[in-house]
Amino acid sequence: MSQKIVIASRNDHKIEEMRRILEQAGFDWELVGTSEFPDLPDIEETGSTFAANAMLKARGVSEFTGLPAIGDDSGLCVDALNGMPGILSARWSGSHGNDRANLELLLAQISQVPADRRSASFVCAAAYVHPDGTEFVVEAAMNGTLIDSVRGENGFGYDPIFIPQGHEITSAQMSAEVKDSISHRGKALAALVAQLNPS
Ligand code: IMP
Repeated sequence: MSQKIVIASRNDHKIEEMRRILEQAGFDWELVGTSEFPDLPDIEETGSTFAANAMLKARGVSEFTGLPAIGDDSGLCVDALNGMPGILSARWSGSHGNDRANLELLLAQISQVPADRRSASFVCAAAYVHPDGTEFVVEAAMNGTLIDSVRGENGFGYDPIFIPQGHEITSAQMSAEVKDSISHRGKALAALVAQLNPS
């Protein structure tokens, strides 16, 4: 029977991506989402960095469930907006998790920014916490450029306006496999797995 590990997120898109990436990386533990723990209290993202928030989520879930947990915190950092929305990416338009409203607001905010100053990065911090006291956090980024209208149906969040560096399509036009191989979340989780299974 494999060991259970809880993915500290209620975002189904993110859980699906994390499950796919961790399974692909040969992670043979049984991954469960927080929906298996309906009494789990909300964990406030009060940290001022991606790493601090990822650690808050992983610690909170591990303490509540008594199981090892992986927490991630991610967002889009837009250079022309001094790194915003950053850790506020999920609630940029006010309501948590309204992807379409967040994207529309960001598009309006960058509408006057010329194409050559539209650089941005997706950043992901992934934290691992085990009840035995082991804990660590890793971080990775995917650099790219923002376009001024949506393209593509895959992915979630700001994917339809983000063209990863070295590519000509948005991350919403990529297959899941291609996005995972270059994405902030793919790279952060690969680093997390490498740290758990050094070889
Ligand atoms: P979190 O649940 O606080 O980590 O929220 C992350 C937010 O950042 C999401 O709601 C999206 O708006 C954005 N985001 C993070 N990763 C991605 C991605 O891979 N594609 C598109 N948007 C993302």
